[in-house]
Amino acid sequence: MMKKIEAYRSLSKSEQIIQLSQETSNPDLVKETLQLFTIDHQNYKDLLENLSENTIALHMLPLGVAPNVLINKRYYHVPMVTEESSVIAAAASASSFWAARGGIKASVNGTTKQGQVHFKITNISNDFLLNIESLNHEILQKTNYLTESMRKRDGGILKISWSKMDIPFEGYVKCDIDFETQDAMGANFINSCLEAIAKISTDWINANYPDANCEVIMAILSNHYPDCTVTASVSAPLEKMEWQGHDGKTMSERFVNAVLIANHEIQRAVTHNKGIMNGVDSVVLATGNDFRAVEAACHAFASTSGQYRSLSNAWINDNTFTFSITLPLALGTIGGLTKLHPLAQTSLELLGNPSAKELMMIVASIGLMSNFAAVRALTSTGIQKGHMKLHLSNLLLSNNASKEEIQKATNWFKDKEISSLSVKVFLENLRNPNQTI
Ligand code: NDP
Repeated sequence: MMKKIEAYRSLSKSEQIIQLSQETSNPDLVKETLQLFTIDHQNYKDLLENLSENTIALHMLPLGVAPNVLINKRYYHVPMVTEESSVIAAAASASSFWAARGGIKASVNGTTKQGQVHFKITNISNDFLLNIESLNHEILQKTNYLTESMRKRDGGILKISWSKMDIPFEGYVKCDIDFETQDAMGANFINSCLEAIAKISTDWINANYPDANCEVIMAILSNHYPDCTVTASVSAPLEKMEWQGHDGKTMSERFVNAVLIANHEIQRAVTHNKGIMNGVDSVVLATGNDFRAVEAACHAFASTSGQYRSLSNAWINDNTFTFSITLPLALGTIGGLTKLHPLAQTSLELLGNPSAKELMMIVASIGLMSNFAAVRALTSTGIQKGHMKLHLSNLLLSNNASKEEIQKATNWFKDKEISSLSVKVFLENLRNPNQTI
């Protein structure tokens, strides 16, 4: 049983590591591993360790690249951070397939983000909302100091609207504010504006309605981004959709049906969308963007009809197969971690330092490619074949296989079932040829 660690925050990092290690079943290994996964470079060490609290090590994930992704007639070599073997290979394979068929078309539908100030206002006369334009005017004036530089970039506060709801409690009043944040994801900018708006509004209500009780419940941006979306799509004549011995028409029809199932059945929709997020999250992570915000937004968007559905759609029209995705993506190429984390900055360099809009198109395209590869495999060969080949290397590494053993195992398992047991048995037989297990 773990003991409480007294005054944890006042301990030095090495004392924290020692004390934490002592609470585990393998103190030496835990200590050694935590000490190993840190970096010596003083600049980056301070920067990365100070991004969050109580840092005891730096968690590393592979950064790979899906090369030659053709989007709007331009090639991108897309950096992806993922631990799941096969994600990058799948995105790269689908991208290569579509590059040979004209590539991906992508466009941004809108970039408006929203935030709300939630109030409880009681004892206020009904003409309150009739006079609200004068409050809105005051809000715009008094937030000038916050929005000035964003307005110079054609951003800032776009619209302010008020609703007196009285649900879920009496006196509930909501102020919705639309923002444009250009190349920033905008969370800090929006939240700063919202907190200022809460104060300005409270002062205005108290001054104009002295009998009213005005209480700010909270002021916070919304991670629901229905007006900040991007669409990516691919299309090709049916005869060009041939794959693994399936003719193009059959392949396309099976594909469309698979997507229809994901639109209809929640059990399939969640896994279908997880496959999209394999690609989306990995680029979002590589570029230092907020993957929690992107995940929350995409799943809410998948549920806007009232049922959780596929984020992508596929159809056949005039002998042409089309596959399309629309995603809500609030991304930045400025701010947050994007210019702080050395690998996020390098990832943006690898992408040619895109604008936030361009990054939205890249991320949606990789989501589409990940989804395409998964559905194509599912409706033709099944996904285990490709997955297990890459999984083999993970199993071998977790059994400390040498280079020579990896080579022998790769040959042996070419036509055999791969499982953790079969890999263990193979290595045991290789290491102890005279022993049968
Ligand atoms: P920052 O505050 O780090 O950076 C954004 C600022 O960069 C802008 O406000 C602007 O400031 C400046 N800027 C410079 N050039 C540009 C440009 N071309 N376009 C736009 N802005 C520019 O980041 P964000 O406000 O984007 O916030 C993102 C961070 O907030 C992420 O790390 C996220 O994880 C975190 N976060 C997320 C939340 C959520 O999603 N619920 C909640 C809270 C935080 P200026 O106008 O003054 O120059």
